[in-house]
Order: sequence, then C-alpha cells, then structure tokens
Amino acid sequence: MALVVQKFGGTSVGDGERMRTVADYIARTVRRGNQVVVAVSAMGKETDQLLHLASEVSATRPGREMDMLITAGERKAMALLCMALHDQGIPADSFTGSQAGIVTDTDHTRAKIVAVRPDRIRKALDAGRVPVVGGAQGVSVDRDVTFLGRGGTDTTAVALAKALDADACEIYTDVSGVFNADPRIVPEARRLKRLSFEEMLEMNAAGCPKPAMRSVEFARNHGVRLHVRSAFTWEPGTWITEEDASMEQAIVSAVVSDSSEAKLTVTGVPDTPGIAARLFRALADRSINVDMVEQNVSMAGTTDISFTVPHDDLSTAHAVVDGLRVELGAVGVTADPDIATVSIIGAGMKTQPGVTAAMFETLAAEGINIEMISTSAIRLTCVIRSDVAERAVVALHKAFELEAG
Ligand code: ASP
Ligand code: MG
Repeated sequence: MALVVQKFGGTSVGDGERMRTVADYIARTVRRGNQVVVAVSAMGKETDQLLHLASEVSATRPGREMDMLITAGERKAMALLCMALHDQGIPADSFTGSQAGIVTDTDHTRAKIVAVRPDRIRKALDAGRVPVVGGAQGVSVDRDVTFLGRGGTDTTAVALAKALDADACEIYTDVSGVFNADPRIVPEARRLKRLSFEEMLEMNAAGCPKPAMRSVEFARNHGVRLHVRSAFTWEPGTWITEEDASMEQAIVSAVVSDSSEAKLTVTGVPDTPGIAARLFRALADRSINVDMVEQNVSMAGTTDISFTVPHDDLSTAHAVVDGLRVELGAVGVTADPDIATVSIIGAGMKTQPGVTAAMFETLAAEGINIEMISTSAIRLTCVIRSDVAERAVVALHKAFELEAG
C-alpha cells in the first residue's frame, strides 16, 4: 500500500463536473489500495476574482484580511471535493491549512511554512478516510490565517508529502507534464519523462511557469520526488527528481523564452567604485528584483550599465534611476520594454564544450542579434528583440534536435 499526495490545480476542479471527475479518479486510486491525501486549489479563476473584489473594495488591502479572503477559495473547493468523494462512497474530510497543521511565519500574502504538524491528517488516514487539504494556506505563529502566495498549493502538497513521508507527490494540472519547449510555439515539443530539480529550477527562472518555483525548491531541499501530470488525460507525466548519476544527461534538455522583463540602460557613468552599489541599492530599497546585469568595458573612464527588471517594475525602476542620474554622473537613462530572453537548459552542458557556440551560431543563422548574455553552469540565456523570440525558440529546438524521441 502506497501513501500518495495528489495536488489538483484550479482548472482541474474548475466546475462541478470537473470536481466529480477528480473525485472519481481519487476514488479509483483509493480502491487500488492506496492511501491518498489531497491538496486542492481554488476553483478556476476564483483567486483572481477574489483579488479583483478586494481591489474594488479597498485601496489599503491589509494583509491579514487579504489572506482570510483569498483562502476562502480553497475552502470552498475542499468542501465540494469532499462532498463529491462521499458520493463515490469514499469517506473524506476537508481540512483548512490550519487544521492540517501547516504552521507559517507572519508574512501575510506570501507566508512561508515553518513547521508541519499533520496529526489530524494521520488520524484521518488511519481511520481509512481521505483528507482533503485546502491549498496555499496555513496558520501563522501568531495564530492568524495565512496565504502562501500564488501557486502555493504545490507547496502545500510537497510539504504534506515530506511531513507524511509519502511515497509520491503528484501534481495534477492542465498540461500533461513539462515540455522541452512551449508546445504553442513549437508543435514538435516533447514531454520530458524526467528532469532534475536543478534543470526545473533553471527552467522556472528562464520563464517556464509550472510547477511553481517555490515548490520545486522546497521539493529539492526536502528530497520529495515530484510527478507533474494531467488531470484531463491522466497519462504518466514528467518526474522531477534528484540528478541520477546512472542516467545519461542530455546536453540540452529544453528551450524556454520569457518576455516578462524589460531592459534599462544607464549610459556614461563614471567607472569608479560605488556606482553600481549605489544604483542597485536604490532599486533594492524599492523591492525591485533585478535579473540580468551587464556592464561594458570602460572607455575613457566611463561605462554603460544595462539590467533587466520585470515589466511591471519598469516605470518605478526608470524613475529610481532617473532620480539618481545627476548624483551618479550618468549621461542618460534609456528604457527598452521590447526585449525577450531565450534560454537553453541542460545538466550535460557542464561538461560539453561548444554548446555556447552552437547557440550563438543558431541565432546568427536566423539573423537574430544578441543584446545581452547570461549563463549558469546548466543554462545559457540571450536577450533578444521580443518580436523574434518565437523564431529563436523554434530554431534552437531544431538545432539541438529536441524533437527527436
Ligand atoms: N489558488 C491559488 C492561486 O491561484 C493557489 C494555487 O493555485 O496554488 O495562486
Ligand atoms: Mg492556481
């Protein structure tokens, strides 16, 4: 008998019929002799709707009340799913994050889990019942209801899998796994059978939205193997696990693009100690998350610094830098919203020469200009014009033969 944690996302339980379909699937898993713990998200777009309601009602939106509001979405879903399970003849009990023993810090709207005390979940399992836990929520050390942030239900599932020492943590979603490129851009994109936590984290950082990055980090830190799969076709999906030395590593596993960032360039700043520190401290003080940074070789004692920030932060970042222009002695500041990044990711890249050259050659053959470059041990990222990003992804997917089985 295996103990399985099953997470169902918003689209998986988007309406009453989906709820019944998911309940039927859980019931089948139970009838095969498994113990199942469920973590469920709010139905469909409910979280967005609650956020929208809050913005209609309030300009201040206190964190404590936001969390009480948002977690109501998961509360509805968990009760409905339990009702559907009862109809299947499966005894099931819903639990809020608090009841499930998920203890968090007090950082409302994006609380972090500090402990999991799943006694009630264990008791329910021992009694032959299916515990259904509201995702993305907990109770703070100050005993307030907290929300773990967007995508937090994945984290709930991983945390429960760890605390209960589950045999598997299955993330059911509206895609059938992790693909080696976005299938909307590359029709030949293939589902990956398996990839390492490190590769998944690099893919997340490069713009692949699912599964949520925080849950992958949590899974890696706690050694919880993830199985990302479809709640629509139910076929086996993608395993995300520790790197396994016995398996041959792909040189390039995936191509990912991202157009969620914009570029700022500060020109003609003095090439002296303290300039970059002053600039990036000012950005950090406004909670602006800088991603790539590039500084030119200085000419005649001055240099240019370019960096990327999320689109949503561009105007704030621009204002911050403009405000510092005179103090820094910079000549100018330019904002460029029309960039995209394209990245290749692969654990085998570490030991394989020539990957960088092959990527640059592929972009060159497409006539695509590279504006910035950043690398990690297993990732290569180029900043390019946003209107050629899809072409770059297609070309790289082909060049690295990712369509082959
Ligand atoms: N419903 C929440 C959200 O959309 C939590 C989750 O789905 O993980 O962010
Ligand atoms: Mg969601």
